[in-house]
Amino acid sequence: MDEYTLRLHRQALIVDTHCDTLKCLLPHFTRLRDSMWEDRSKVGFGKRSKLGHIDLPRLKEGGVDLQVFAISSERDPTPAYPLRTAMEMIEAFYTECEKYPKLVQPVASHNEIIESNEDGKIAAMLSIEGADVLEGRLSMLRVYHRLGVRMVGLVHSLRNLLADGVADNRTKGGLSCFGIEVVEELNRLGMVVDVSHLGDAGFWDLIETSKDPVVASHSNARAVCPHPRNMTDEMIKALAEHGGVMGMNFAPDFVDKKKPSVETLIDHIDHIVDLVGPEHVGLGSDFDGIPSTPKGLEDTSRMPAITEELVRREYSEEYIRLILGGNHLRLLKRVIG
Ligand SMILES: [Zn+2]
Repeated sequence: MDEYTLRLHRQALIVDTHCDTLKCLLPHFTRLRDSMWEDRSKVGFGKRSKLGHIDLPRLKEGGVDLQVFAISSERDPTPAYPLRTAMEMIEAFYTECEKYPKLVQPVASHNEIIESNEDGKIAAMLSIEGADVLEGRLSMLRVYHRLGVRMVGLVHSLRNLLADGVADNRTKGGLSCFGIEVVEELNRLGMVVDVSHLGDAGFWDLIETSKDPVVASHSNARAVCPHPRNMTDEMIKALAEHGGVMGMNFAPDFVDKKKPSVETLIDHIDHIVDLVGPEHVGLGSDFDGIPSTPKGLEDTSRMPAITEELVRREYSEEYIRLILGGNHLRLLKRVIG
């Protein structure tokens, strides 16, 4: 990699709006029955691991400045003890962060992100993937806010009390009354609403309901790779018109079923930039939640490969900074303050 690319990558603020690393920290979480994750619950995220995709040394190497860590509900129509599992993930998150105070800083505001970056630390923010973890209570949202959560996805692909997910798309169901109430409360509290995993009807309900711009924390363009988890051009236009940003997901099935690679991932960015300009696209890797990775993006330490490909495609320095994190940061500043 040439000097110019490396310097640009190091200087840019890099934001990744989705990973499933917290799942790896809980030994009893379903996912951990898979041997790929097994040992990581013992080592935590502070030491370099050969397994999975994210730990602090690899985030540092990849130049990531803000990593959003998802508290994830189990993909089950009636998950067992979602609130308890969420609490355990939050506890694991803060315990791990406290072990490495020189490396990582939990953050809940734009200022804290910038300060943490100035101190040379990785900023770490909590999000929710699947609001099953509210167990039907709006008051729980206020508790999560107090615990530092600043981004909330309503569903994790299956129908819940708030909305139908993409996996329940045949019903064409949108947001329930409770789902609408949750969005209004998210707006009031200053938490970002995340549309990833929502069914299409729910997306349109949400765009109409949310006063704040919304994110798609880890979704790509359906016109480039037809998958229901990706967004149609109409959805991307509506998201952009409302000031939203979408984070590019590295899951091979969402990138390119035949040739998942850095190049085919950047094809999504090209498409979105052509469609709505450079101000609505960012990164949302889904690392530690995907079974395999695109060629050239084997884990988070490989993030510079994205900058390299953007430079190769003659994106300006300004656009590259926006795509790597500037867009996500602008949205966070506006919504969470
Ligand atoms: Zn997801």
